[in-house]
Amino acid sequence: MFEIIYYPGVVIIFIILLVSGLIFSSLWFMDVKKSYKKQIFVVFRYDDFSSQSSPDLDEVIIQTLQNYRIPVTLGVIPNMAAVNALDPREQELVPLSSDKIRVLIEIRDTGFMEIAQHGYSHQTFREQTQGGFTEFVGMSYEGQLKRIKNGKAFLEERLGIEITTFIPPYDSYDSNTIIAVEATGFQILSAGLMCVPSESSGLRFLPATTDLLHLQEAIKVARRIPDPKPIITVLFHPYDFFDGLQPLTIQEFDKLLCWTSQQEDVRVLSIGQAVRLNNKDFGISQLNKNHEANQNTISIMPPFLKFFHPSVYLRIKTISRLRLISILLSIAFYFFISIFSIINARIVHSLISSQFDAIDKIYGPFATAVLLSFLFYVLRDTTMGYKGFTVLVASLSAIIGTWSQ
Ligand SMILES: [Zn+2]
Repeated sequence: MFEIIYYPGVVIIFIILLVSGLIFSSLWFMDVKKSYKKQIFVVFRYDDFSSQSSPDLDEVIIQTLQNYRIPVTLGVIPNMAAVNALDPREQELVPLSSDKIRVLIEIRDTGFMEIAQHGYSHQTFREQTQGGFTEFVGMSYEGQLKRIKNGKAFLEERLGIEITTFIPPYDSYDSNTIIAVEATGFQILSAGLMCVPSESSGLRFLPATTDLLHLQEAIKVARRIPDPKPIITVLFHPYDFFDGLQPLTIQEFDKLLCWTSQQEDVRVLSIGQAVRLNNKDFGISQLNKNHEANQNTISIMPPFLKFFHPSVYLRIKTISRLRLISILLSIAFYFFISIFSIINARIVHSLISSQFDAIDKIYGPFATAVLLSFLFYVLRDTTMGYKGFTVLVASLSAIIGTWSQ
């Protein structure tokens, strides 16, 4: 028989970690199941409603959403660039026409859809090669404030309501945008899942996390994650229906909304409704933590032990717990690899040395040299991801196994 326990202290720590991790996670899963009825919040954000958007397409999209009484947050551009929004050169701006305002008033009167401000003109401030399209990043605070303020005043005056959600075009903003948006009286900023370029702000942040094509998959992921109130924000544009690799037909859109409305654990809200319902959440740190969790910050963590997904927005509490569980299970995973390699190396060593006495003396140094060359070969141009680290742990453990008998 082969002795498995070479280092009792290490193995005891391993067992304690594993058992406590498993007890902790099962208690927590039970706690989540017991105390909450899980509800997945889905938010639809439809950007780029403007003087230039197709009235027919806008109408059919809004009508389809209304048929299922699905709220949407409509990103409205007050003063759209007339020629090409992707060209930073000076050009004419076209304010929303009276027909478009009429459509917005009808939407306002439904009482369950939200009208948000989507920039001012959507015109990029710089070329794409200068760091990507943006209406605001790099512009002076005064310049940004003027545009945001004028846009808000325009919409509020014509629609007779307060606009509380701001959506920066191209999901692009900087710290001046945050200050200007807050100073103008907005409460919520919705962009992408990125780090907030500011240390503090009273604004609430609810980023877009997925698109129409991936909504069903995101709901499946949200069902698996032990968070009682995960949020999925679906961003879509008019161009999703006629451009791109997989343009969606209106029938497919209708089918998707029908399916969504039939899911018992799904509740659809606008951005404003979602934030007001869970007002304590949605601060800067929640956005930063979600962003960080989806980056590969611990590169040696095996991907199958990461429980995060960028399509689902989680509470800070859930992120911290899932992170701890991921770390515990990763430690258990590498301990298992290590023990497995030690046992294997010992089996091979024993078989060979019992057959050939002369080999016994040189087996250890020989096997170590072979394993070190293998390790050097595998890791020579690999950044230390989980595969490289697995090879490292397995090889070093095998070396220990060949020497320790
Ligand atoms: Zn846009």
